[in-house]
Amino acid sequence: MLLLYTLQTMNTQANHWADATALQIIQRKGEKPLYVCAAGITPSGTVHIGNFREIISVDLVVRALRDMGKKVRFIFSWDDFDVFRKVPANMPQRDMLASYLRKPITEVPNPYGQEQSYARHNEREVEKLLPLVGIEPEFIYQARRYAAGDYAQTMRHALEHKELIKGILNEHRTEELAADWWPVSVFCTSCLKDTTTITGWDGNYGISYSCSSCGNTETLDLRSTRTAKLFWRIDFPMRWSYEKVDFEPGGKEHHSAGGSFDTAVKIAEQVYDYRPPVTFKYDFIRIKGGGGKISSSSGNVISLGDVLDIYQPEIVRYLFAGTRPNSEFAVSFDLDVLKIYEDYDKCERIYFGVEDVGEKRRDKEKRIYELSQVHSVPPNMPVQIPLRHMCNLLQIYGGDIEAALACIPGGNDKRLRTRARCAWNWLENYAPPEFRFRLRTETVAAVSLSPAQAAAVGALYRRLEQDFAGFDEQSLAQCIYALAQENGLEPKEFFKIMYKILIDKEMGPRLAGFVLAIGREKILPLLKPYA
Ligand SMILES: [Zn+2]
Repeated sequence: MLLLYTLQTMNTQANHWADATALQIIQRKGEKPLYVCAAGITPSGTVHIGNFREIISVDLVVRALRDMGKKVRFIFSWDDFDVFRKVPANMPQRDMLASYLRKPITEVPNPYGQEQSYARHNEREVEKLLPLVGIEPEFIYQARRYAAGDYAQTMRHALEHKELIKGILNEHRTEELAADWWPVSVFCTSCLKDTTTITGWDGNYGISYSCSSCGNTETLDLRSTRTAKLFWRIDFPMRWSYEKVDFEPGGKEHHSAGGSFDTAVKIAEQVYDYRPPVTFKYDFIRIKGGGGKISSSSGNVISLGDVLDIYQPEIVRYLFAGTRPNSEFAVSFDLDVLKIYEDYDKCERIYFGVEDVGEKRRDKEKRIYELSQVHSVPPNMPVQIPLRHMCNLLQIYGGDIEAALACIPGGNDKRLRTRARCAWNWLENYAPPEFRFRLRTETVAAVSLSPAQAAAVGALYRRLEQDFAGFDEQSLAQCIYALAQENGLEPKEFFKIMYKILIDKEMGPRLAGFVLAIGREKILPLLKPYA
């Protein structure tokens, strides 16, 4: 057992950043019966793909630990007891939402109507999608935790160590915290806003405040109130200690010098007597392409759902698994989509030994492939249809996914069906116009041709009618060149009239492969009027 573990460790050590992080956690925290890995997001707006990097970064490390035989608790904290500060640009009913500013986001109504609150709506949008990419954490709702009194003791502890905390925070501030600063904040029980000032603490669980919005004054018991909370910079390390967190990554904005990570480490150690978790910094995600569609419909917010419309779940994981967390990268909606699918397919071929690369590259790609899978690695290599070809097939069949899949050997496959759905979404919403076409359906001559052009098209018609099944892409390409030459046409001219006849465009997919993809039954009626 020990030997096996050592071998696994050596095997994975050099291969992937998630494995390196898992090893670091074990080294720093020691052998434990259970490791706790944490992610957290404030659902104060649509959770965007940059936020998703937090979740999947943790998932990848969780998987790495589990692959080393470790037990792991993966907690995902919804920081939904935060205050509603700003109405995001992409939300409907903005005036209604604006009237709830300064209240907890769990108290804001959902502008879409279905869920109980604004916060819950934003949470649900993510919770329903995460299983699709194989991520199933234990969700913790911080508003409920505070309301249940779970943190009463930790709040009292912070009040007892107010001066120590203040000193730590002041080290990183240009302007020192006021003399009457407290580590706890209160939402007014009368108007629900956080426009309150703490006026006293009884040295135990009693805390008094006054509200500048409605004039309410009151003394609360931290054990029973639903409205008191720790400020973020204290709340964050308190929860490390409360949940015994061993790993939590942080976005670039939290990982700057003197940022919330720096102060959290000190507060965890000095106030809560807790050894801080292993961490790393993850960088931002850019969005490339997408044009008007993205900015008009969603206020420039790209959610996991938007990305899953275009990318198979494995490829969404691949984007993140294949990039080191501290590198910025772009999620592309433009022609790069084709390249990303090609890269993933290549990674898959390398995994299954169908494509040969050097040993080092192979080990690296294999691990990325494993971590990209939603569940386990498939037993055999899935049927691969390049996205470009899938797009052509779908357009030939006018978007009928089942018809397109039916002409692919082994096409009745869940992954291919998902790929076809993504390809069609991409074509409909993001593909550049030169990439898109519609196969003509006319059975009359729609293009006027010179006698030489008509002769070439007619000759091609007869060859296809006689021996369509006998052609492969190469032999058909040779045939097309020969027919152009025999009829005194430049190949370019012949291609151009063929595209005109087939899709009413001057250019299109590579002709021989395209003709074969269109199939005998569809192409003969289109060429016959010229024959
Ligand atoms: Zn009030």
